[in-house]
Order: sequence, then C-alpha cells, then structure tokens
Amino acid sequence: MPSLQSYSTFGLSASCDSIELFTDVSSFLSIYNSIKNRTDNAIYILGGGSNSIFTNDFDGTVLVNEIKGISHFDTESHHFLRVGAGENWHDFVTLCMNEKWYGFENLALIPGSVGACPIQNIGAYGVEVNTLIEKVECVFLKTGEQVVLSNEDCQFGYRDSVIKHELANKVLITHVNFKLPKHYELETSYGELAALSEPTPEKIYSKVIEIRKSKLPDPAELGNAGSFFKNPVVSQAVYQGIAQEYDSVPHFVVSGSTELSSIENEQIKIPAAWLIDQAGFKGKTLNKVRCHPTQPLVLTNLGGATGSDVITMAKDIIASVHEKFGIQLEPEVRLLGNKGLISL
Ligand SMILES: Cc1cc2nc3c(=O)[nH]c(=O)nc-3n(C[C@H](O)[C@H](O)[C@H](O)COP(=O)(O)OP(=O)(O)OC[C@H]3O[C@@H](n4cnc5c(N)ncnc54)[C@H](O)[C@@H]3O)c2cc1C
Repeated sequence: MPSLQSYSTFGLSASCDSIELFTDVSSFLSIYNSIKNRTDNAIYILGGGSNSIFTNDFDGTVLVNEIKGISHFDTESHHFLRVGAGENWHDFVTLCMNEKWYGFENLALIPGSVGACPIQNIGAYGVEVNTLIEKVECVFLKTGEQVVLSNEDCQFGYRDSVIKHELANKVLITHVNFKLPKHYELETSYGELAALSEPTPEKIYSKVIEIRKSKLPDPAELGNAGSFFKNPVVSQAVYQGIAQEYDSVPHFVVSGSTELSSIENEQIKIPAAWLIDQAGFKGKTLNKVRCHPTQPLVLTNLGGATGSDVITMAKDIIASVHEKFGIQLEPEVRLLGNKGLISL
C-alpha cells in the first residue's frame, strides 16, 4: 500500500490502494476509465496536497495532477496566460514577477498547484485570485467532455467556487487562464504592506514572502495545511453582540453599504484566529497536534500526529468557539476519511 504522507503537507501517516501520476488529459482519462467502474475504489484528485488532510488510510486511488506548461501573449492592455493545472503556484508567481507580468504579487508563497487555485479562490493580503482568472478549462470525469468555465461560471466567493458545489468531484481542472491588466492599482492596504514606501510589485512580492515566512510554519519543517478554518462571516447583529463584550474585536465589513439605513444588512468577517485565541487554544497542544503559537488559525503536526488527533483538536476548537461566541467555524481544509471527503 503506497504511502500518502509525502503527498499532503500536513504529513499524517496514511496509505491508499494506488497513486497514479498523470501529465496530460488522455493519460488521466485512461487511468480514470480503468478504475471508475470498480465501486470498491474511491478516487481523489490531488495537486500539491496543501489543502488535503488524509485522516485515515484511503480505500482508493489518488490521481496526482502533473499537467505542465505555461503560454503567454499580450495586447496593449493585458497579459494573457494559459497555465497547466499541475504547475506549482509559487514557482508560477515567481516566473510572472521575473517576466514583469504583474498582479500576483500579493499571492506569493501560497503552497499548492495552479489547478487548485480557482477551487477555493485562493486569497491573501487583500487579493483573491478570481480577480485575475479569465477562464478555467476542465474535463468532465464521467464523459471526458471538455468544458470551459468563464469567470462568471465559476461563481467565485470567499474561499469558494462552483467547483466546491455543483461541480465537486465531477471535473478535472486541466488549465487555468489568467488575464492581467497592465495598468492596475497595487493592493497595499493590508497591515505591514501599508508601511511600504513607494510600493512596487517587486516590493510587495518580497514583503509578502517575508511576512509569510515570519508568521506561518513552513510545511517542509512542520506539517500543516495553512488556515484550518475559514474566517466566519456574520450578521451585523451577531457582531454587535460580541463587540459589546469585547472592546477590540477585529472585523471587516465584507458586504452591505455604509449608509446608516443599510448598516443592519452588513455582513461582517471576524478573523477565526482571534476567536480561536479568545477560546484559549493559541499554542495549545493535544497529543501531537498544536494550535500554532503565532497564528492560531493553523494547526500543525508535531510529528507522528494521527487523524483522530487532528479531528479531536478541530472539534474541540469548533465547540469552544461556538460555546463562547455562538459562531460555528467551518473547516477551510479538505479532510479525507477512508472513502473520501468527510465533514466534522
Ligand atoms: C503554509 C500554508 C499556507 C497557505 N496559505 C494560504 C493562503 O494564504 N490563502 C489561501 O487561499 N490558501 C492558503 N493555503 C491553502 C492551499 O495552499 C490552497 O488551498 C491551495 O490552492 C491548495 O492547492 P493544492 O494543489 O495543494 O490542493 P490539494 O490539497 O492538492 O487539493 C485541494 C482540493 O482541490 C482538488 N483539486 C486539486 N487539483 C485539482 C484539479 N486539477 N482538478 C480538480 N480538482 C482538483 C482536490 O481534490 C482537493 O479537493 C495555505 C496552505 C499552507 C500549507
């Protein structure tokens, strides 16, 4: 039974029936078609494994996307890029910086593959990738039919897209197409980026890398899957209830208007890290899983953690935050049991 440990950045010990690497659509379809009718065999498509945690042995085949290739052309106003889903995200961002195809600088050093970026609409430091995606090329697993999803078709939201819902487990993403405006405003409103003097894409890229390295554990040294939970978005009423008790609740208005009459309709994002910290979990260790001391949104594998350690810790956090604030945290990571995705 091949080991999945090195295929997931969380690095739990787990195995599966087989691991198959594919480099193009036809090799994917021939592997897929040879196993799809075996009802005893689940299938999971994997990129870099930085958002997938195998909490148990997986009774099935893991198909690892290695479709490569980057092509580029430009017009007077835009750069256009077509990128193989198996390209490494950060290497791609670095290449774009070197070529002066700007726009991705805030999204530097996010682990994983290009193919996974639209699925949860990756975002960091004030930029979400949906603002740069033109279209996503996919193949329907069952029929092999190729389909192109426009940006609108993708129904992007906060860490969300149609590929997490109607199209979940139905398509393979083969290529992502980006459209980068040559003239745009740099995003420097986020924390330490605001302190940059005369910001340039290069300065933002370097600063983002520096901040991420100082705050987030490197998965190569300490197993983790980045943010374990999504930041909850709550109503103005829920936020006000919390703000009455806690003076300094960090929060961001994510929708609604600032007109007085509409304030009650606003949606407020509260950082899950703050909620988890307030619930007393920052730096807390349970068996071999730790809530990271400098970023409590990240759970880490101290070495030898088991799937049940992870699930127990995650459930404890969810229950404590719910008890204290009445807010239900939702995982951002994909948790897998022996038959496929599981929920907490
Ligand atoms: C240290 C660290 C920091 C992180 N920081 C951020 C951050 O700042 N912002 C952010 O948004 N995320 C962040 N993440 C999460 C992660 O990097 C992203 O979710 C990334 O896009 C996952 O890519 P992946 O290829 O590793 O996904 P995987 O874990 O391999 O797959 C994720 C999901 O996508 C599916 N999938 C993958 N590829 C395909 C494909 N080609 N076709 C169809 N389905 C596919 C898988 O089945 C799975 O359900 C971080 C993770 C880590 C470890």
